[in-house]
Amino acid sequence: MKNACLFLVVFSLFAISFLSAKPKVIAHRGYWNCEGSAQNSLASLNKAHALNGIYGSELDVYITMDGVVVVNHNPDIEGHVIETSRYNDIKKFLLSNGERLPTFEKYLKQAKKNKERLIVELKEHNINPAVNEKRVVEAVLKLVKKHRMENFVEYISFSLNECALLKAADSTVKVSYLPRKVLSPEQVKSKGLDGIDYSEELFNEHPEWIKEAQGLGLTVNVYTPSAKEALQKYIDIGVDFITTDAPELLLNMLRDK
Ligand code: MG
Repeated sequence: MKNACLFLVVFSLFAISFLSAKPKVIAHRGYWNCEGSAQNSLASLNKAHALNGIYGSELDVYITMDGVVVVNHNPDIEGHVIETSRYNDIKKFLLSNGERLPTFEKYLKQAKKNKERLIVELKEHNINPAVNEKRVVEAVLKLVKKHRMENFVEYISFSLNECALLKAADSTVKVSYLPRKVLSPEQVKSKGLDGIDYSEELFNEHPEWIKEAQGLGLTVNVYTPSAKEALQKYIDIGVDFITTDAPELLLNMLRDK
């Protein structure tokens, strides 16, 4: 009798935690949509951390021709293509909040201080992809290892080449696919990746892919619902992660539930 009661209690707790599983919050390019911040800035990383409760901060990286990994969304800065520039020629450029263009290593060090998780988007390198995508994967993994941040870094990419290179270098890293080519959850699973990170538009076309992916053991991340109704929709559906430009709003909505 005692054992049966214990079983019921454990089962109920499990059921409650399962049913109330909430999406985790990822700040898209950090928390930039606030005073003193800018997309992909160190300030946006710290402001995301200060929200207290996010899963991690997303950021975008490119490698320069002389091997420095920098944090920037666009392939160029102030008219200089990062892939074909030397770091010394672009390091002077300022973000909209007055910060200098950050290196990935600076970002890593700050994230380590904050004990904050990073979702690193390895950008497609379009000038010389065969060479530079390999260089950026190797350089990023080396820096993460150097700073012993392996347990605090996950990866996303639109480039299947970069996804495959990451897994080949270290099968334990978590890699989710961004949909440059539209792949079904089964196709992503067959490539040995860990999750799908798809847009709202793509999930509107394929709503069935959310449960299908989760059923295959893939994690599901949606980018970038940021209005209240859209956020509520994905909370209700029960995706694993929401990457949003409104991390503070989403955290408040999840706390109010
Ligand atoms: Mg990104």
